[in-house]
Amino acid sequence: QAKQSGRNTYRFFTAQMNVDAIARRELEVALRFALEHDEFVLHYQPKVDLVSGKIEGFEALLRWERPGHGLLFPGAFIPALEETGLIVLVGKWVIGEACRQIGVWMRGGIGPVRVAVNVSGRQFVEGDLYGNVTQAIHRNAIRSDLLELEITESSLMENTELTVAILQNLRKAGVTVSIDDFGTGYSSLAYLRRFPINKLKIDMSFIRDVTSNVDDASIVLAIISMAHSLHLQVVAEGVETAEQLRYLREHECDQMQGYYFSRPVPATGVEQMLYDGKQLPEQDECTPAV
Ligand code: C2E
Ligand code: MG
Ligand code: MG
Ligand code: MG
Repeated sequence: QAKQSGRNTYRFFTAQMNVDAIARRELEVALRFALEHDEFVLHYQPKVDLVSGKIEGFEALLRWERPGHGLLFPGAFIPALEETGLIVLVGKWVIGEACRQIGVWMRGGIGPVRVAVNVSGRQFVEGDLYGNVTQAIHRNAIRSDLLELEITESSLMENTELTVAILQNLRKAGVTVSIDDFGTGYSSLAYLRRFPINKLKIDMSFIRDVTSNVDDASIVLAIISMAHSLHLQVVAEGVETAEQLRYLREHECDQMQGYYFSRPVPATGVEQMLYDGKQLPEQDECTPAV
């Protein structure tokens, strides 16, 4: 049967490959256009301190307001940015935009707001990440400790030496560094010690079933205790329920991020949240009386 349809299959794949190649090329052109015409925006999701219940800072997440397509999320275009290398230019824009916004909030009476941006591994290798960061901080006259960089555990595992050297310089410049999606890579304790980092963000795949799956629970507990023994702060990503929150508080996780507290919101939403003094309910209100 395979032989019989061989010729047609061949034709089908060729045609399909052309369609894919054309679609990819169109997406690349649209992404370049987007960068030049200000179609990208940042949304912000709060990170909350689990002891005080207060907002500690925000993670900036990239969105594309693509005309005729609505608001697009990273899953729809980050892979294309990564493949084409455009992530280096867009990543530079993200750093500049986050620093601009920090400056606007600082001088606009909102006050010092900490913002974390996601950084692609390609920005370390192909871009001038150190230059981009220090320039954006200077140009916007902001405190360097208000900017945080999130780098995934897996991208840290590639080009480790170069990445570590650049992170060391960024730390000296006063920037905070977090490892994102922690637990999905293969870094060992000994390895982590070498990295100039301040925080670990536990990947949300471990948080999802943390109160019902004993394996996930032990991984989360191991990450928390390992991080603390290395004097790193721990952030849980993807917290959606009061049960997850209670578990994390009981086990001394430092911060949380997730839909339970807030989805990512536009800059005006940040201002509203800070104005309202939004915070987590007290520990006692979440923990049932024994
Ligand atoms: P990430 O850095 O791990 O960001 C967390 C993602 O989880 C965000 O998705 C966020 O909206 C989502 N999230 C937060 N809380 C919850 C929750 O309670 N439940 C669930 N189900 N999801 C939650 P988003 O915005 O779609 O971003 C996806 C990924 O795209 C990010 O994962 C990051 O790796 C990448 N990304 C986003 N912005 C940038 C950027 O500016 N540069 C680069 N290089 N990557 C970015
Ligand atoms: Mg992140
Ligand atoms: Mg993450
Ligand atoms: Mg993630």
